[in-house]
Amino acid sequence: MNKKEAMKIYKDQIRKMQAYHLMLATAGFDRLTIAPKDGSEYRNEMISIIDGELYALQTDPKYVEAVLFLADQDLGKVMNRDIFLAKKSLEDVLKFTREEIMEFSLAMMKGNDDWYEAKMKDDYSIFKDQLLKLIDLSKKRAHKRDPKKDPYDIYLDDFEEGMDRKKYDRFFSLIRKELLPFIKKIDRKQDMIDDSFLYLYYPAEKQALFMKDIMDYLGYSSSWGYMGLTEHPFTNGFSRNDVRVTTNYDEHNISAAIFSLIHECGHAFYEHQVDPKYDNLIFIRYMSSGMHESQSRFFENYLGRRKSFFKLLYPKLQGYFPENLGNVSLDDFIRAVNKSKCSLIRTEADELTYPVHILIRYELEKLIFAGKADLEHLDELWDEKYEKYLGVKAKKASEGILQDIHWSDASFGYFPTYALGSAIGAQLLHQMEKDLDLDDLLEKGKFRKITDYLKKNVQHCGALYTFDEILQSATGESFDPDYYIRYLKNKYTKLYNIK
Ligand code: ZN
Repeated sequence: MNKKEAMKIYKDQIRKMQAYHLMLATAGFDRLTIAPKDGSEYRNEMISIIDGELYALQTDPKYVEAVLFLADQDLGKVMNRDIFLAKKSLEDVLKFTREEIMEFSLAMMKGNDDWYEAKMKDDYSIFKDQLLKLIDLSKKRAHKRDPKKDPYDIYLDDFEEGMDRKKYDRFFSLIRKELLPFIKKIDRKQDMIDDSFLYLYYPAEKQALFMKDIMDYLGYSSSWGYMGLTEHPFTNGFSRNDVRVTTNYDEHNISAAIFSLIHECGHAFYEHQVDPKYDNLIFIRYMSSGMHESQSRFFENYLGRRKSFFKLLYPKLQGYFPENLGNVSLDDFIRAVNKSKCSLIRTEADELTYPVHILIRYELEKLIFAGKADLEHLDELWDEKYEKYLGVKAKKASEGILQDIHWSDASFGYFPTYALGSAIGAQLLHQMEKDLDLDDLLEKGKFRKITDYLKKNVQHCGALYTFDEILQSATGESFDPDYYIRYLKNKYTKLYNIK
């Protein structure tokens, strides 16, 4: 086999695999948004068959030979990266049989279905067996992939290349040491800010009108995007020009859908703004989760919770809900959506307490994979951690272990990237404020200037670099979580007038 032949085999096969990925993404989006529940058994089985076909393509001996051959060649920066990731993924896949891949795919979809039913009925027992099965399968899979490596480290690295418990331990100990005492101090002053008007009755149909205004403001266009409805909002990039977001309306909490949509649009822009020249490469699918979360949380918090962001939008929101917001000033609205309080639901948490929600999940996942968690009572362990760190106690499972979708499809190791992403975002913000007058741009509705900046400095390269390499090129420095701690302390010291 020579370089030219190997490259042709590689590219042809990648193209076929991309076609399967597109079909799987489409079916996956459909499953989690509009597909009726009773069709799930048949649907899941068909999807697992497609997963099996994808496995056959990826383990085709000719393709394997081509990847291994190309891995020894110097093909230039971009192709070297592509082949490196193709080889890494191949080495994992080859440790499993087609039947095992299909079994795991079915187990994840059943996990999703059971979780959804359990959450709707607020009954953890409906989900528990499948969760324990997924934990067991994940441990076995990790052992097969690399018996010498810690299983949790394997999954941490899957979601964030180069990260492991040691690095996350350092990061989370900073959160524990620097933020926990500060949070307690702020929590005692929570009566200072009235946010009761956010929890009046906000009909979903009217919320939907405002979602359209937000998408227009951000420049999230229907020519490359689409918003669906789901239980647990997510973004799905089918391709660079087909990036779909989802949202969920809570008729008694207007800020939930607003900030979740802004968040998902941050993800969508990242997928959309990768340089088109990488369209046919596989590395696009391996973008850093931490960097992804940094973009979404950048939109949601570092931009979305500013007064300048709502200067043009807030009058529209008042127009839809004059009875609720007619007498609430923009200043009071902004104070309310920034209010910090120790609460139970991660996705609705304020910026300051948010990383503690992640710390809790990180500690739980560590215990699970170290074999130190009492798996029979994971729900209680969850509640205990919330009481210990945030002083709040869930009254029902949907406010506790059932709140997040992630464990239902075995996405262990994903949560920590949320806190990492927030910290990356704070560091990017520090640089961006030197380069742009953000408030001026936001007030004037020139959001395009901001997305262009993110495209140029962060998003264009996709997964060509690790998150730390991207940070170095965008800010001139390696990852430094102090920016995050400082940002939070400054912001909340001012907001709560702490001397
Ligand atoms: Zn996100």
